[in-house]
Amino acid sequence: MLVIYEGKKMQSLKVSLMKFVLKHVVNWALKDPEIRLMKIMKVIGKVSFTKKVDGGQNRRNLFMNVFTDNDTMMYKWLVRFMKEMDPRVTHRFLQSVGIHAAFVGNKKKWEVVNREKCNVPGAILMDPTSKCNIKCIGCWAAEYEQTDEMDYELLDRIIREGKEIGIHFYLYTGGEPTIRKADLIKLAAKHQDCWFMAFTNGTLLDEKFAKKCAVLGNMSFAISAEGYEEETDFRRGKGSYKKMMQGMDNLKKYGVPFGFSCCYHNKNVYTVGSEEYIDFLIDKGAIFGWFFTYIPIGKNAVLDLMAEPEQREWMFHQIRHIRRDRKILVVDFWNDGDYVRGCIAGGKNYLHINARGDVEPCAFIHYATHNIRDCSLLEALKSPLFKQYQWNQPFNPNHLRPCPLLDNPEHLEKMVISTGAYSTQMLDNEDVRDLCDKCRPMAKKWAETANYLWQTDPKVNNYINIQRIKREMAEKAEKKIQEKKKKVLEHAIH
Ligand code: SF4
Repeated sequence: MLVIYEGKKMQSLKVSLMKFVLKHVVNWALKDPEIRLMKIMKVIGKVSFTKKVDGGQNRRNLFMNVFTDNDTMMYKWLVRFMKEMDPRVTHRFLQSVGIHAAFVGNKKKWEVVNREKCNVPGAILMDPTSKCNIKCIGCWAAEYEQTDEMDYELLDRIIREGKEIGIHFYLYTGGEPTIRKADLIKLAAKHQDCWFMAFTNGTLLDEKFAKKCAVLGNMSFAISAEGYEEETDFRRGKGSYKKMMQGMDNLKKYGVPFGFSCCYHNKNVYTVGSEEYIDFLIDKGAIFGWFFTYIPIGKNAVLDLMAEPEQREWMFHQIRHIRRDRKILVVDFWNDGDYVRGCIAGGKNYLHINARGDVEPCAFIHYATHNIRDCSLLEALKSPLFKQYQWNQPFNPNHLRPCPLLDNPEHLEKMVISTGAYSTQMLDNEDVRDLCDKCRPMAKKWAETANYLWQTDPKVNNYINIQRIKREMAEKAEKKIQEKKKKVLEHAIH
């Protein structure tokens, strides 16, 4: 007991010391981010990667290449973040992500993973409410009952239990989470060691709320953006676009981080993925963007909206191009499977709790065996459906085919049937066999394109390419050594 107490005391001393150092270093860097950030990154690179560990030198080189070169987009993005965000946001972000999640949380997480033999995610996505102030055509939230709510006490309990097992990143969706602004503010104020992000339609982000978020420093927003005024108002109702634009302006004014979240489908992919559209959102102040592809969930889902393989492939190239060329962090949850070893759901990296309390493996997988009102977070992570995810991930050795529904429907069908999971879609209770049948033809078509990309495209982050990059880096290093030797020799002769 004394040992645990001493251990905890030592841990909190370490955390206080790290916070103290971080505070002063960040204040110093904020005065001249372009120059000073590089100095900090060089020190971090040197102390974080030891050459003695296998691959340590390669990892250090990679870190140095990406974070200490003011020509890389990642470096430019970091400078942009420091310049455009309220300083309280930069401090809070580094504390919650760098110290509480990476240092304290990660250690706890692996202790639980090893002890309980279950997945422990880095993030929890939850719906404070299923209500929404607008009704969008094709939104999954429209499939839920519009009366479900998780009250403040329940949300707080989930976060407290999450922190106990090392989770410091909480995302909200819904319904429209900002309908519950007061509770979101209260939770962010109480859990200053966590980072929060709300997926929102952006229409309720008024100036007063933006100001409060800047003071707290640990809230960010992913605003649904699916085109310009005509497309937005068509899907969400007249006037929605103008309100959303005003919401972005309010967040930008107070230096609150926000990005966009975008569902691309057969009809809009070339608009929302275009450089013109991304540049427009960067100008509005977006610093990140989440792309999702359309999934035909619900009995009335429109199959024709599913992206064709050539459209998904276009997005694969386009996302990588934008990342290389624009000061914005963009992620495509399906086409970036090669960075996260396939599917991230089922508690591997995240899980979803809907407003009724059903614990789902993913926001797009509306099946569950447990409800958080009747069990602890840890019990939900050990539930049969989550175990199935853990045992079956990755669902495909080709991580460009990550999804157990969209790309490998036979997996979802088997997991749901074998665990007896219930449908969490209260309005139409879709049978998993029907849902998977809808996805099979497109999964087959995408398999051909994805397999070709996986084997041949040098941009794919897979084992074949990592070996090639390592080889090229070693050759580059060897060339440098030879050039240095040559110079020394020439100098000696003269
Ligand atoms: S289940 Fe599908 S949609 Fe959900 S995280 Fe996994 S791959 Fe993505």
